[in-house]
Amino acid sequence: MNSLTRAKASELAAAIKQGEVSAVEVAQAHLDRIAEVDGTAEAGVHAFLHVDAESALAAAAVVDQRRAEGDELGPLAGVPLALKDVIVTADMPTTAGSKILEGWRPPYDATITTRMREAGIVILGKTNLDEFAMGSSTENSAFGTTRNPWDLTRIPGGSGGGSAAALAAFEAPLAIGTDTGGSIRQPAAVTGTVGIKPTYGGVSRYGLIACASSLDQAGPCARTVLDAALLHTVIAGHDPLDSTSIAQPVPDVVGAARRGAEGDLTGLRVGVVKELGGEGYQAGVEARFNDAVALLSKLGAEVVEVSCPHFTYGLAAYYLILPSEVSSNLARFDAMRYGLRVGDDGSRSAEEVMSLTRGAGFGAEAKRRIMLGTYALSSGYYDAYYGQAQKVRTLIARDFEAAFAQVDVLVSPTTPTTAFPIGEKVDDPLAMYMNDLCTIPSNLAGNASASFPVGLADEDGLPVGLHVMAPVLADDRLYLVGAAVESAYAAQWGGTLLEQAPALEGIH
Ligand code: GLN
Repeated sequence: MNSLTRAKASELAAAIKQGEVSAVEVAQAHLDRIAEVDGTAEAGVHAFLHVDAESALAAAAVVDQRRAEGDELGPLAGVPLALKDVIVTADMPTTAGSKILEGWRPPYDATITTRMREAGIVILGKTNLDEFAMGSSTENSAFGTTRNPWDLTRIPGGSGGGSAAALAAFEAPLAIGTDTGGSIRQPAAVTGTVGIKPTYGGVSRYGLIACASSLDQAGPCARTVLDAALLHTVIAGHDPLDSTSIAQPVPDVVGAARRGAEGDLTGLRVGVVKELGGEGYQAGVEARFNDAVALLSKLGAEVVEVSCPHFTYGLAAYYLILPSEVSSNLARFDAMRYGLRVGDDGSRSAEEVMSLTRGAGFGAEAKRRIMLGTYALSSGYYDAYYGQAQKVRTLIARDFEAAFAQVDVLVSPTTPTTAFPIGEKVDDPLAMYMNDLCTIPSNLAGNASASFPVGLADEDGLPVGLHVMAPVLADDRLYLVGAAVESAYAAQWGGTLLEQAPALEGIH
C-alpha cells in the first residue's frame, strides 16, 4: 500500500505544508486506493456511494496553488476526507442512503461542508449509510451494505458504516459521521477507529438531512485522536443558520489531545457506569473494557463505580422519541419537492402520487419508524408514549448531572458485541436496536461522548471500543482520555489497533 494512505492526517498536512508532497499527489493516492479496494455493492468494502475524483483533484490543486503563492495553510489543508452522505454538498449528489433522494443534487453546501472546504480539506466523495441514518449496520442502505474491512462478511456498524469503513480500509484518513443514537461511536468501535459525538449544538446541523432533530449531531471520525481533534476544530463553533447551535467557544480539543498523549491522568475522576455491562455483553468486549479501565487507573485516574439507574430505560425512550421526530421530518419527502416521483401520469391525484412515491422510495426500516412515530404522536396515545418518553429523557439527563457531580467522565463499553455477521440481525429489529444500549443516553441528554479502540476480543479477534462520556461542552475531556489510552496502547502494540488487523484481501 502507498505510504501516503497509511499516514495520519496531521502528518499529511505537515508534509504538504513542507512541500514534501503535493496535495494533488495525496488526493490521487487515496483515489487509487478507493479504486483498488472499495469495489461495488456486490464485492469489496463499498464504503462510498459516490466518488468525485475531478472535484477532489481540483480542491487539492487549489491547496497546492495557495502554498505556491505563500499562503499560510491550515492544519488540515490538503488532507482527504470521506463525507457521510447525509450532509449536503452542492457539487455532489446527496442520497441519505434512500431511493427517495436518488440523483438529488442539493442546491447548497452544509455549514460543515463549507467550513471544511475553507480549511482546504479535500472531499473525496460521499459514504454509505443506513437509510436516513436509521440502523446499526448499513444494511438498511438502499444501495447495498458496506463491509467491515476487518472481515468482509461482517457489518461495519451503522448508520455511519461507510465513513468508518473508509478509515479502516485506508481509503481516507478523515471522515465525517452523524450520531443520533450511536452512529458515529458504534461504527468506530466495530472498525477499530476513533469516533466523537460532540456536545449537541457544538457542531452545526445546517445541511445535515434530519433524522431526529433533537438528537442528531455531526462529528469527526479518524484513525487517531489528534486527527479527530484537528477536524473537530474545523467543523465546530457557532452557526447562526442553526437555531440549536451553541454560541460558546469551542473547547480546546487539540490541546487536550496533545496533553493526553503524555499519558498522565493524575487527578482525573472516572466513573464506570454500573448499568452498562454484565448480562448480554460479549465476554471479549467486557475483558477489553476491564483492561482499559485498569489502564486508566495505571495512568493515574481515580476509578469509581457510578450508578445511572434510568439508563436502563434509555433504549425504550429513544425508540419512541426518535420515530416521533422521524415521522415528522420525513413528511417532507412528498414527491413534490425532492427526488423520486412515482405514478405521476396525469391520471392520479397528488395524494395517490405521494403514496406511491413513499411506498416505493422508503425502505422497510424507514416505514417501520414512520408508523411507530405517527402512532406515538397520535391523540390519545401522545401522553402514554411520547410524553412518558420525554419524562424518562429528563431522568436520564439528571442521572448524568448527578454522576458528573462525582466524576469528570463516565466510561462503558461502546457496544455490547463486536461486529456481527452481515444478515444476522436484519429480520430482528429489536436485536438490532440493542447495539445502541450504551450510546443512546448521551444523545438523549445532549452531552459529549466518544469511542476509542482498546484491543481485540479474544473469541473473534475483532475490535472493541471504549466509550467515554463527558459533560455538555466538556468535549476536551474525551480527547484527553482518548489520547492517553491511545498512546499507552500504541507503546504496547507498536502502533494503532488497525496495524493489528489481519491481512485481508489486500486491505490491511
Ligand atoms: N442505530 C441507531 C438507530 O438506528 C442510531 C442511529 C444514528 O445514530 N443515526 O437509530
